[in-house]
Amino acid sequence: MSIVSQTRVPTTSPSIQDQSITTTFHVEVMHDLDTGEPTLVGSSDANHGDLQVVTADQVIAKAQEQHRLVSKAVKLALDYEAATKQTPAAPHRSWIVADRTTGMPLKGTCLPGCHGLHFEMRGGTADANDIQCTDFDQANSTELPIGCGSEDGQEWTTLSVLIQSYPVHPDEAKRVPLAAIEVTEDHYIEDLDPNGLATVIDKLQQRVDAMRVRHAELIRARAEYFGRQA
Ligand SMILES: [Zn+2]
Repeated sequence: MSIVSQTRVPTTSPSIQDQSITTTFHVEVMHDLDTGEPTLVGSSDANHGDLQVVTADQVIAKAQEQHRLVSKAVKLALDYEAATKQTPAAPHRSWIVADRTTGMPLKGTCLPGCHGLHFEMRGGTADANDIQCTDFDQANSTELPIGCGSEDGQEWTTLSVLIQSYPVHPDEAKRVPLAAIEVTEDHYIEDLDPNGLATVIDKLQQRVDAMRVRHAELIRARAEYFGRQA
C-alpha cells in the first residue's frame, strides 16, 4: 500500500504574509524478493530519498503531524480568500424602529446572511439591546448520538458556529459580529467500537474543516461591518 499526500499552498498577495506549506507522507508495504516477507517502510521526501523501515507507531505519529499540516494549509487558503475576496454586495435588510425607552428612531442594518425574523420589532418599538442578528450554521450536517438524558438515542447537530451581532446595541462593541459555538459538556457518545470511534473522528474532522470556513465567513462579516462604519 502506498499513500502519498502533498500540499503546496504558495501565496502571492502582498496583503497577507508569505507562507508556504509542503508535505510528503509516503507509507508502503514492500515484499522481500527472496523471502517474500513484508516490510513497512515510510518516507517524508518527495523522491523517497529517506525511505526507511518504520513501525506502525511511527506512522501514527507522522499522520498526526500531517493532520496538523493539512489543517494549516486549509487555514492558510481560507485566510487568503478572506483577505483577497471582495465581499459580495449582498442585499442588506435595513429597518427603523422606535426605541422602547427613548422613543427615538433606531436605524439598523442586518448582519449579512441574517436569518433573524426580528419578532422583537413587532409593533414598531423594541429595546435596542434586544435586537440580535443571527446567521445560523445551516450547512452543518454533523449529527452525533450524544447522550442527553431523556433524549438518549437521538442524534444532535454538533458544533454549529453561529455568527451574531446586536446591530443597534447602545454598547458599540456589541454591534461587531462575533461567533458563538453551540457546544456542551457532560454529554457522551457511548458504546463505540473501533469502527464507531473512527466514524465519529471522521465526522469531527469534517466539522473542524467546516468551522474553518465559518471562521473565514466571520472575518468577512466583520470586514463588511467595519466597511459600513468607515
Ligand atoms: Zn438581522
